[in-house]
Amino acid sequence: MSWNPIIKSRRDWEIIPNLHDYEAVGAGFSWDKARAELNGLPAGEGLNIAHEAVARHAIGPQAQRTAIRWLGKSGKVEDYSYRHLHELTDRFANVLQQLAVAKGDRVFVLAGRIPELYITALGTLKHRAVFCPLFSAFGPEPIRARLTIGQAKVLVTTESLYQRKVAAIRNSLPHLEHVLLIGDGQQPTTLSGTQNYHRLLEQASPDYRIQPTDPEDVALLHFTSGTTGTPKGAIHVHEAVVAHHMTGKLALDFHPGDIFWCTADPGWVTGTSYGIIAPLTNGLTSIVDEADFDAERWYRILQDQRVSIWYTAPTAIRMMMKVGVDLVRKYDLRHLRFLASVGEPLNPEAVVWGQEAFGHPFHDNWWQTETGGIMIANYAAMDVRPGSMGRPLPGIEAGIVRKTESGAVEVLGQPGLQGELALRPGWPSMFRGYWNEPERYKKCFAGGWYLTGDLAKKDKDGYFWFVGRADDVIKTSGHLIGPFEVESVLIEHKAVAEAGVIGKPDPVAMEIVKAFVSLKDGFEPSESLRRELLGFARARLGAAVAPKEIDFLPTLPKTRSGKIMRRLLKARELGLPEGDTSTLEA
Ligand code: AMP
Repeated sequence: MSWNPIIKSRRDWEIIPNLHDYEAVGAGFSWDKARAELNGLPAGEGLNIAHEAVARHAIGPQAQRTAIRWLGKSGKVEDYSYRHLHELTDRFANVLQQLAVAKGDRVFVLAGRIPELYITALGTLKHRAVFCPLFSAFGPEPIRARLTIGQAKVLVTTESLYQRKVAAIRNSLPHLEHVLLIGDGQQPTTLSGTQNYHRLLEQASPDYRIQPTDPEDVALLHFTSGTTGTPKGAIHVHEAVVAHHMTGKLALDFHPGDIFWCTADPGWVTGTSYGIIAPLTNGLTSIVDEADFDAERWYRILQDQRVSIWYTAPTAIRMMMKVGVDLVRKYDLRHLRFLASVGEPLNPEAVVWGQEAFGHPFHDNWWQTETGGIMIANYAAMDVRPGSMGRPLPGIEAGIVRKTESGAVEVLGQPGLQGELALRPGWPSMFRGYWNEPERYKKCFAGGWYLTGDLAKKDKDGYFWFVGRADDVIKTSGHLIGPFEVESVLIEHKAVAEAGVIGKPDPVAMEIVKAFVSLKDGFEPSESLRRELLGFARARLGAAVAPKEIDFLPTLPKTRSGKIMRRLLKARELGLPEGDTSTLEA
């Protein structure tokens, strides 16, 4: 752990940070007080995320404020005020009503960052159905797996994504009753077995009354990956909005009037918790850019949209660093007040580069799909120790723990010791289960702690430092990939006998997906087979998940019980010591 140079927090604030004094705010904090900042449904009918995000602003002084400013790839700009968003999401809730979608049914969206995604998410929440986002760069296999596990009743997608990724798997999805298509061109879509999203929206009533919502009603299903097995659907409830709202204020320092840009895609949890919910509950204007990363485009957005708070990710920051600081200097970025980053380790150089390029350091924060919201963060009013994830949020107890041989959990109280990062359950956006997998959920807890699967250390001042993952999941460009999902597709190829998949370190993406395969009798390694396998995996898994590299091996290292030893594959790939190989098959 090294924190030189510390970046001192500025004290010349024009706007006093919400968490201006970590100890004092923490001492006075309670989740009940946080909940009291939200309205709740009228007449005490519970708590609904979409009411807090949209409906309550649409009838108040914020009604005409831009809730979402959408920047299309082609230069088109669309503004959605809180009132307009309220009407559109009421319409979508009525569409679901007409389709006989019931409370708790799953509504999936497979789309890029287009306005319909946001309307669908919030309309679904109003209707008390469960919003389930899918990343648009997934291929047919990850899509099929998630729709199947989540027993999707409705899928909202675009015409081209449907044709490229869903049409061929539609017959294997018996629960899927309705596919609502967003047309790509001027002509309304007429694909068989689908309905036109916009026509339904136009025909639906613009008034919808949110029915009583228990804070524990399921609201969101976010898929994530583990080392083994199928993807896991992390369940979040309407109560999570208390944490979305408060962490927006405390960790991202939201103030009225802020213009906020979260660059994450809503296909992943950050793009939902902070790309949809938190800025809206706080009444901000949220920028949504449809296009992918491009340094010039991004700086132009920061300048032209007068972004004041910017939440992005290490891979993007490293790409900006490659382009260099000169480009940044061409833009007027005086409105930027706070920069934050999440999703992967943020290297100290990147934190410091933020200071050099933008006059503000990037503030790293840590959380994961299961936690639903930010848990550990560097705050606006706190000195930044580059390389550290920061300190736990008020209301969050974090510890470094180790499981003893007897299965008990020992807290490593002494600073500097490495162990598993653990959190005391009980915050509002804590996941409530994995969809239909109670055993997998139960395994995440021990000794009164939720075990995160991350290895970390804590220093003497309470700052947390990320060390690595305790398991084999891969982080590539900020996206969590389960090796098992990739291996399962590779072994479907007629030439492949076995497959092992690892994350290979990469200077920009942090890791890339690398596969090792052994071949069945009768097949020989060759360059053309390698290319065929790369293409095969890409067509099924999509660009976001498919391996970038494939190597052939005569056999893969396995334990005596037949499990492929990914750890060993990785050590060999990196030329590192092989560690304990006592369980290696002879
Ligand atoms: P996901 O559930 O896809 O959001 O991924 C969560 C995982 O990303 C965490 O368990 C960490 O392994 C990693 N992660 C998230 N934020 C950070 C961070 N600030 N530093 C290091 N790793 C992070």
